[in-house]
Amino acid sequence: MTDVPGGLTEEAWRASLADLYEHGPCGYLFTHIDGVILQANRTLLDWTGLAIDDLAGKRRFQDLLTLPGKIFYENQFFPLLRLQGSIKEVAFDLVREGGEPLPVLVSSMLRNNDAGEPYMVASAIFDASDRRAYEQELLRSRKSAEQLASIVRFSSDAIVGISPTGMIQTWNGAASTMFGYAEQQIVGTSLVDILVPGGNQTDWPGILGKLGEGHSIQLEMVGRGADDVRVDVSAGFTPHLDLLGRVESVSVIMRDIAERREIERIQQEFLAVTVHELRSPLTGIKGNAQLMKRREEYSNRSVDAIISETGRLERFINDLLLASQIQNDRLALAQEELDLVATARGAIDSLGREDAGIRFHSDSSPVMVYADPHRLSQVLVNLLTNAIKYSPKGAGVTVRVGRTGGKACVSVEDQGVGIPADALPHVFDRFFRVGNTSGQVQGLGLGLYISRRIVDAHGGQIEVESQPARGSTFTVKLPLLRHAAGAPGNC
Ligand code: ADP
Repeated sequence: MTDVPGGLTEEAWRASLADLYEHGPCGYLFTHIDGVILQANRTLLDWTGLAIDDLAGKRRFQDLLTLPGKIFYENQFFPLLRLQGSIKEVAFDLVREGGEPLPVLVSSMLRNNDAGEPYMVASAIFDASDRRAYEQELLRSRKSAEQLASIVRFSSDAIVGISPTGMIQTWNGAASTMFGYAEQQIVGTSLVDILVPGGNQTDWPGILGKLGEGHSIQLEMVGRGADDVRVDVSAGFTPHLDLLGRVESVSVIMRDIAERREIERIQQEFLAVTVHELRSPLTGIKGNAQLMKRREEYSNRSVDAIISETGRLERFINDLLLASQIQNDRLALAQEELDLVATARGAIDSLGREDAGIRFHSDSSPVMVYADPHRLSQVLVNLLTNAIKYSPKGAGVTVRVGRTGGKACVSVEDQGVGIPADALPHVFDRFFRVGNTSGQVQGLGLGLYISRRIVDAHGGQIEVESQPARGSTFTVKLPLLRHAAGAPGNC
């Protein structure tokens, strides 16, 4: 025994040591080699909620643990203890009397008897609930940091970290895709060099100044990507402050707004075309009416012109209406059994004087389909007017009606300007017009879009083959009515 510290009687000193053993901040436990409890201090008893009489000689230490703990104790902990003689700080959950677990760390030593045989295990048991709580907290924050990192990695927005002076520190995958610079190339350079507010050399110092004061900023900017590609972005700048309130770094989230810009451009163009399409027939109507008034006489020609221009206005407005119905999935069909040969002939006739150069080939027998007569003839009129519109005056147009591959088909072939290969996949898109023709020929870019949606709604297909300066062939295929067998023709 060590010396009694000055000022204490030996008795007081012993009492103080005993008190430390009994009530100290850790549990002490002595068990037999098979785990049966021999002795436990007060702290451990308090943790378990049991009295020593309930434990000593009656319960084993491993029975005070959760089931996985018990299995671990018997299969890993104890064999290792036998092997090494001691084990430090192994995590277990002690089950309290009420069933509540207490996380603990157990350090154990094997004690040998005089013959050198192991006969007892002495353990110190530490309450690890605080440590477990902050370990879990640490794990949680590591997990959320990992989640954040994977959000940044897989985000479709460019997420860039910059220093308070604008130097790029981090650069995610979307930023590489958007600007065409790899992370290694760009980190360490200045964001100012590839991003210009509003497209002008404006106020970067002002922006950095505001960020330095801790303000967030949202701006539309123009970026300069690799190979000088223009990148339109909406950029959000968020400063991050250190503990002293100084800006430590700034995160910049950029979204590509090229699509929005394109929509704005289409809207502008649409407005311009609509105004033009409305104004020119109105001018015709007004002019012819004024002519009759001035001459104070009725003119068949003027009235015909007024009727024709009114028809054009009507078609235009109907197209707009129909396109908007299609866009909202409200295209209603009134289908009936009808003969495609007769429908195609009717569509040609409806063009009046314009049908002059149209040749017509068809099966001798009817080609029966189940279709909405009004909508189907609208498709054919669209194809025919395009064939005439996009061909030199007097060039031939051929219409064929027949059967192909078990389907009914009607094709419209012209010898007009044709469509460039890169534009072909887009001719059925809404508001799409081929650049080189759109300036010269009036149109909205809705006819083929509407036609395709109508044909789709009938369960059919519309296809196009074309060669610039040679001409185009549009073919509509529709399900053939089963009872309408006949000699196969072709389209
Ligand atoms: P619009 O004729 O009103 O412009 P469409 O949707 O009918 O609209 O056609 C879309 C575009 O496809 C046209 O602007 C034109 O450039 C091209 N196109 C359509 N039909 C033909 C054709 N027969 N020959 C050449 N180009 C065509």
